[in-house]
Amino acid sequence: MNTRPCFDVYQAGAARKSRRVAEELVTDYYRIAPREWHAMPYEVKTLQALDSSEIVDTALAHTLCYRFRRQAGTLVLAEGDLYRICLQDHRILDTALSTNARLDALLTYVLTHELVHVVRFGQRLQRMDLPEELRQDEEYYVERLTRNILARTGDPEIIRLFSASPIELN
Ligand SMILES: [Zn+2]
Repeated sequence: MNTRPCFDVYQAGAARKSRRVAEELVTDYYRIAPREWHAMPYEVKTLQALDSSEIVDTALAHTLCYRFRRQAGTLVLAEGDLYRICLQDHRILDTALSTNARLDALLTYVLTHELVHVVRFGQRLQRMDLPEELRQDEEYYVERLTRNILARTGDPEIIRLFSASPIELN
């Protein structure tokens, strides 16, 4: 049984709002057309909706890729990759507390980082099965892109989070 604290209704609302903000920021940065988003569908799940295999205690969030196929009888209607951003509510709440961060700012930070992963996987700029020894480099690169994107918001709270002690994203 999961005893980790989950977002309450207000915190879940903040996650939805931050998702819209992050999506807009990443869309502007990469100039992504709606049809391009359509080709790399993603969903954002909070802790309550995660499978136990998707829960991690070492990161604020991570992104997984699942194959999906919709069929009517033998006819394949759609198939492809679905990215699932798994928010780790318990780790996010802990970090918001320890860094004294506004939750929506922290969530915008986390979701922007994860959406950069989605775009890099979805546009085949990076492979999903990256060998272990190259993962750290990819993380640094994604984090650098994330900071460039977020710097454009001019939100002092988000910018303060960059300089806070390292935040473990995945
Ligand atoms: Zn990452």
